[in-house]
Amino acid sequence: MKQANEYDVLIIGAGIAGIEAALTLGDAGYRVLLVEKEGSIGGKMALLSKTFPTLDCASCIATPKMAAAAHHPNITLLTYSEVQEVVKNGEADFSVKILKKPRYVDLDACTGCGICETVCPVIVSDEFQYDMRGRKAAYIPFDIAVPKKAIIDLDNCILCGSCERECPASAIDFTQEPETLEVKVGAIIIATGFKLFSPTLRPEFGYGRCKNVITAMQMDRLLAPTRPYNSVLRPLDGKEPMRIAYILCVGSRDRKVGNPYCSQICCMYSIKQAQLIMGALPLADVAIFYIDIRAFGKGFEEFFNQTQAMGTMFIKGRVIVVEEDKEGNVVVKYEDMDDGGRLKEDTFDLVVLAVGAMPNSDITKVFKNVKIELDEVGWIKQVDPNNNPATTSVPGIFVAGCAAGPKDIPDSIVEADAAAAQCMAYLNEHKYGRKR
Ligand SMILES: Cc1cc2nc3c(=O)[nH]c(=O)nc-3n(C[C@H](O)[C@H](O)[C@H](O)COP(=O)(O)OP(=O)(O)OC[C@H]3O[C@@H](n4cnc5c(N)ncnc54)[C@H](O)[C@@H]3O)c2cc1C
Ligand code: SF4
Ligand code: SF4
Repeated sequence: MKQANEYDVLIIGAGIAGIEAALTLGDAGYRVLLVEKEGSIGGKMALLSKTFPTLDCASCIATPKMAAAAHHPNITLLTYSEVQEVVKNGEADFSVKILKKPRYVDLDACTGCGICETVCPVIVSDEFQYDMRGRKAAYIPFDIAVPKKAIIDLDNCILCGSCERECPASAIDFTQEPETLEVKVGAIIIATGFKLFSPTLRPEFGYGRCKNVITAMQMDRLLAPTRPYNSVLRPLDGKEPMRIAYILCVGSRDRKVGNPYCSQICCMYSIKQAQLIMGALPLADVAIFYIDIRAFGKGFEEFFNQTQAMGTMFIKGRVIVVEEDKEGNVVVKYEDMDDGGRLKEDTFDLVVLAVGAMPNSDITKVFKNVKIELDEVGWIKQVDPNNNPATTSVPGIFVAGCAAGPKDIPDSIVEADAAAAQCMAYLNEHKYGRKR
């Protein structure tokens, strides 16, 4: 199909913020180009279990929006694609180069049947399951992927030809080449979200050294209906953990690693997971080591109180070190703040690290003749955070969701709609001459 080369708005990143902004603009009649670097849209929300504080199923909320964005007449979706260069020519006039990476699968022909995945002999670590299981070199990113189409990972493919022979739709196409698209857009929304703090930067918490230490994102995958193991099992031996500990603020409020800010989501997602674990493993004990609990949103304090009442132990304690004993259990040594800072230790079957959110602002490097300012930590700077949180330092370029700083899903959606509204006002004034 021939690609149009002019759009009202380019949205970079198709997590929940990018999708929401695209739907709002598309519904209002603006032509949107939504560019996602991964093989599926949905961002982190599509991989979560449930959402705090209502415990609604995350994928049940995300998938209708993902499908709506993929089928919207005013939204053109480019997955597995990256923006390479943006030049501002004038108000409401940007030239953009986009790299469409080869999937080696014909998107129109592929039916998402998964036969290529079944027959492919190569198994590598699955990045969408946060390395808790393998995927094939021919793969569909995850169960609820949109588009639900295969990708051939040529870096790991051994060119055995099985997928090509067995695909009933003859969709495998090893002749595909990278393609560069050149488009013109009137405005841009950056919705590239956040990265997760790498827990190996705080080696004392044991990630990588103790087998039964995992991250909260891995726990969300274990608890999700689309989970990889079908149960919460500990990595070392597949046993059901009966004593589980959370360590909060891993990589947040931590000047040692250069992240002085609060990641805003970790207290609440840990409290959410504690409740979900009590449902999945009714006999398990959950303890949460915290510095402060920040339950600032609507219904959050009540959710926290409810979790305490259900039996989760909250220990105000600074964890000093995490070690593995001979059975692979995890020994947590900590200062008990409620006992005058006394040094204590306790043993758990599984430890979960509530890793913080990190800026993901590399995209600003592709803007050639304008400078998108970052704040002191590296998030996209909101130049007018009180009056208009969607504006960046460049007129016509807006920001939505966690690209501007860590936040939860409802706040990401509100900011996405704010960015969409600002985009419309900007285009009306500078492109369509409809100044109020
Ligand atoms: C363990 C965990 C549990 C959580 N639980 C909850 C919860 O229960 N309730 C809640 O409200 N919030 C929760 N959150 C927070 C939630 O994940 C975020 O609020 C939400 O994902 C923000 O959406 P976003 O679209 O801004 O960013 P993201 O989800 O990070 O999406 C960004 C998208 O942009 C794409 N992208 C990045 N760079 C580029 C690029 N250069 N070009 C093209 N595409 C790009 C990414 O691939 C991704 O698809 C949780 C977070 C974590 C880590
Ligand atoms: S490439 Fe072929 S075998 Fe693989 S999912 Fe698509 S249609 Fe099925
Ligand atoms: S050709 Fe590559 S992707 Fe296809 S089945 Fe063989 S190893 Fe897997």
